[in-house]
Amino acid sequence: MAPRKFFVGGNWKMNGDKKSLGELINTMNSGKINADTEVVCGAPSIYLDFARQKLDTKIAVSAQNCYKVAKGAFTGEISPAMIKDCGVTWVILGHSERRHVFGESDELIGQKVAHALSEGIAVIACIGEKLDQREAGITEKVVFEQTKVIADNVKDWSKVVLAYEPVWAIGTGKTATPEQAQEVHKKLREWLKTNVSEDVAQSVRIIYGGSVTGGTCKELSAQPDIDGFLVGGASLKAEFIEIINAKH
Ligand code: PGA
Repeated sequence: MAPRKFFVGGNWKMNGDKKSLGELINTMNSGKINADTEVVCGAPSIYLDFARQKLDTKIAVSAQNCYKVAKGAFTGEISPAMIKDCGVTWVILGHSERRHVFGESDELIGQKVAHALSEGIAVIACIGEKLDQREAGITEKVVFEQTKVIADNVKDWSKVVLAYEPVWAIGTGKTATPEQAQEVHKKLREWLKTNVSEDVAQSVRIIYGGSVTGGTCKELSAQPDIDGFLVGGASLKAEFIEIINAKH
């Protein structure tokens, strides 16, 4: 089986404007990006078109969310069909901020995953435990339950990247140690082997997110089951190029 291609996603969240994002895009376009890494930038929905038009085509663009149906009376929402119409090929679903700030349920996230995939949009599906859950020793239980709902809605795993993002590490400057992240990634791969297939377990990229920086990315990327990153804060800086090239 071909080795898993290293995958680095940037999640700009609700940050930037045309001026600052335009500058960031120029930095990305002129940066030396290793061809062995797949790079995706998650832009705010209002800037998806802008980002797709300005970013070099070797960098894919991702939406940060979408709804579960193609069109209709859903004020404020965007559909995968609209994302596709802007030349955008990815969507981040199930991000912890969607789950915990906006109250999205596992069920809704599962429906979104199924619909986005059915429209031909690839999915960065996020999972991760909160601090109290880790402290209560239920990390595995939580991430397995979240993964099951996602898995129940996936037919073609080649269009899915699984992002393990412990909630306590997101935006806190508290990166999981390489050992902590590796442990969960390994367990997730075992879960996929038991509950989906050996093939999927070996081929699906499991990326880590949560305060990844230029300083922490190398050690994390050296772990056998860490196939890349989902990067928030540092994806808004030139440092993102270092993270993209973590393996080199
Ligand atoms: P962070 O965000 O890198 O700022 O912790 C990661 C994420 O939310 O995807």
